[in-house]
Amino acid sequence: MIDILCLGEALIELNQTQSGDGPDGAALYRLGCGGDTSNCAVAAARLGARTAYWTRLGADGFGDVLMARWAAERIDASRVVRDPAAFTGAYVVHHGSDGHRFSYLRQGSAASRMTPLDLPADLFEGVRLLHLSAISQAISQSACDTGFEAIERARAAGALVAYDTNLRQALWPLPRARAVIDAAIAQADIVLPSLDDARLLTGLEAPEAVAAYCLDRGARIVALTLGRDGALIATAERRERIAAFPVEAIDATGAGDAFDGAFLTQYLEHGDPFAAGRFANAAAALSTRGYGAVDPLPLRAEVEALLLASAATRA
Ligand code: ADP
Repeated sequence: MIDILCLGEALIELNQTQSGDGPDGAALYRLGCGGDTSNCAVAAARLGARTAYWTRLGADGFGDVLMARWAAERIDASRVVRDPAAFTGAYVVHHGSDGHRFSYLRQGSAASRMTPLDLPADLFEGVRLLHLSAISQAISQSACDTGFEAIERARAAGALVAYDTNLRQALWPLPRARAVIDAAIAQADIVLPSLDDARLLTGLEAPEAVAAYCLDRGARIVALTLGRDGALIATAERRERIAAFPVEAIDATGAGDAFDGAFLTQYLEHGDPFAAGRFANAAAALSTRGYGAVDPLPLRAEVEALLLASAATRA
């Protein structure tokens, strides 16, 4: 049995740790793992969900690094396709006086070559929930088709579908992103947008209006993240704003992925989206206390300790 199957593109991250203006002129980069849906899988696995990942990787060293990371996180990657004719995507994070700059090597990557035919026939057997994102669908036309096929097959197998509207305008033009994301929202049980993306996608300003937009299109549950303002959880019957946990945030990279993994893990445990929202809000806050999207992802005991401490403060 798998609780959460994440599908999308995982990437190798090279994150600059030392500038190139030292005495030997060498900049240093730390090798890590990234990609929104992979980050979400790690977040969920650390919180105790039985998690699997599906993608295509190159039959290269970068692909091996990702496989090793998933194994270390106890994520089932046994169905991942390795393509000897394509490379594993990567990105470099440069740190300069003007902030972070991202450079991507992903066009033509093994993941971007996924097609619906790559999906194993029994991929969704015993899976409770499929999670994918707009990035999973933005990387290529065939990946977009694969996303829709996966949604259909997951639903046919009785799984729930969760969708993060993660928008990368460099990957596709806004009108196409809008059309695809609207269609995906209509087929998803749980939609997890961030307010910044949702404003661009819908033209709406207010969180409540964005939530109503997703519900009107067919989502059952909306978990809208509001950055340092927390989150808004909405169903047809009820809406609840959840204030962010006051933490010393250092780097909010991947906070949305941390939120997704925690929300989905908790929702599958008890079916209460509002309690899941409070838990995810705490997990995501903890994920902002360290650098990068993966390293600071918290363990379950850390999230529970924060929630207990905050309940004690309120009592
Ligand atoms: P994304 O990473 O997708 O842009 P957000 O920036 O909305 O997503 O952040 C996701 C979640 O992370 C928020 O809903 C909140 O729970 C948490 N979060 C983000 N920034 C902070 C912060 N400065 N302090 C506390 N929690 C934060």
